[in-house]
Amino acid sequence: MELKLYNTLTREKEVFKPIDSKKVKIYSCGPTVYYYAHIGNLRAYLFMDNLRRVLKYNNYELLHAMNITDVGHLESDADDGEDKMAKAARRENKDPYEIARFYTEKFMIDLKKLNISIPEIICKATEHIKDMEEYVQTIIKNGYAYETKNTIYFDTSKLDKYGLLSNININEQKAGARVEFDNEKKNITDFALWIKAPENHIMKWDTFWGKCYPGWHIECSAMGRKYLGEQFDIHTGGIDHIPIHHENEIAQSKGYSGKIPANWWMHCEFLLIDGGKMSKSLNNVYTLDDLEKRGYTALDYRMFNFTSHYRNKLNFTWDSLEASKIALSRLKEGYKKHANGNEDIDNKIIEDYELKFHEAINDDLNMPLALGVVWDVIRNPKKSKKLADLLLKFDEILGLRLDEEEKIELPDEIKSIIEERKLARLNKDWKKSDKLRDYLNEKGYLVKDTKDDMKVTLK
Ligand code: AMP
Ligand code: ZN
Repeated sequence: MELKLYNTLTREKEVFKPIDSKKVKIYSCGPTVYYYAHIGNLRAYLFMDNLRRVLKYNNYELLHAMNITDVGHLESDADDGEDKMAKAARRENKDPYEIARFYTEKFMIDLKKLNISIPEIICKATEHIKDMEEYVQTIIKNGYAYETKNTIYFDTSKLDKYGLLSNININEQKAGARVEFDNEKKNITDFALWIKAPENHIMKWDTFWGKCYPGWHIECSAMGRKYLGEQFDIHTGGIDHIPIHHENEIAQSKGYSGKIPANWWMHCEFLLIDGGKMSKSLNNVYTLDDLEKRGYTALDYRMFNFTSHYRNKLNFTWDSLEASKIALSRLKEGYKKHANGNEDIDNKIIEDYELKFHEAINDDLNMPLALGVVWDVIRNPKKSKKLADLLLKFDEILGLRLDEEEKIELPDEIKSIIEERKLARLNKDWKKSDKLRDYLNEKGYLVKDTKDDMKVTLK
């Protein structure tokens, strides 16, 4: 069956054809590990996972690289501000490598909890400085870069066109340009490939141009080329990558080899919170841990993400997360109902469901449509093992672990009430134990006492 994927480069949904008919090569822009990933960031990786699973469902093998940005990402995606890692190191009074290790580990734990399948290659920017340096040297040799007092800049005027992804008109940008901090920069769209480190800069390396650190964009070009070759199939990221980071990756690659590195460029839309942007000042930047503290699991959040197509904005509210939590537990109940059933069902019906589901995911990963088919299967009045098996097949895409018993993640407050109640029961303080049971009920938990223990479930 045809697989269609939207390509930001052509602005069209196109029939997907990989360079090698069996193996698909993908590069995904990974996290900047200077702080906890928020649930918006995690939406971008759920999208990445969705793509991986759909490709595998279509019998492709994958070679997929994702970078970890542990140097070079300045506060603004253009060349402004301090390095995010250096700033975090100062904030936490730690070595930037320690910061990177801590938040990378935390990020990988979040991916695991979300049941995101991990790319075959995870590559860190700081471990590829030499590859980046060589990449910059080739760009210079090919005449696409120039050196100033502080920086090696990419010269965007040397390209036939800069701004292929976002269709930028350079002349319009010039008219609206703000004053540049480096007046040695020749064109408004030129960007830093390599930066000469000031004396007090923490992360720097001995390179051809003295003590330097890399620009953010060069890491993806150098590592993409190293692991996937000069041209690969798909490049993914969030929509904020389109106008600067990915334009610059394309520019670098054109300067290096004359080629656009990937054939498909795919971008995930943003997660909004209560209809607006997540921001520290609004105190609405949530992490997966914040969701868990309120009694939601990572898989509830995964389920929530299927309510919108990846190219649409998704609005997070606690009410909609609650609705997804309930929906997920209904899916699991529905699976169980079929798994315990003995009725037979016509194979043609199974094939029809399978076809519809496959068509939906192959239509540019249309998960809301695919989920509609899943609900049709759940609601089928025949209780049949064949339907349960079909749901497990769909779960290769959903990744919701439909056949696993629900384990509830209790918030810290509830955990400590449970411990307090266990102690009260041990001390035969029945009045206190009853009061705590009522409190747990009020909070939405059912308590069942056994001889030596107690079982707590969601109401
Ligand atoms: P960063 O760690 O800042 O480099 O971002 C990691 C990923 O999260 C990138 O792919 C961004 O495009 C993506 N991202 C950032 N904010 C959001 C958001 N609100 N919704 C969806 N993706 C986001
Ligand atoms: Zn990147």
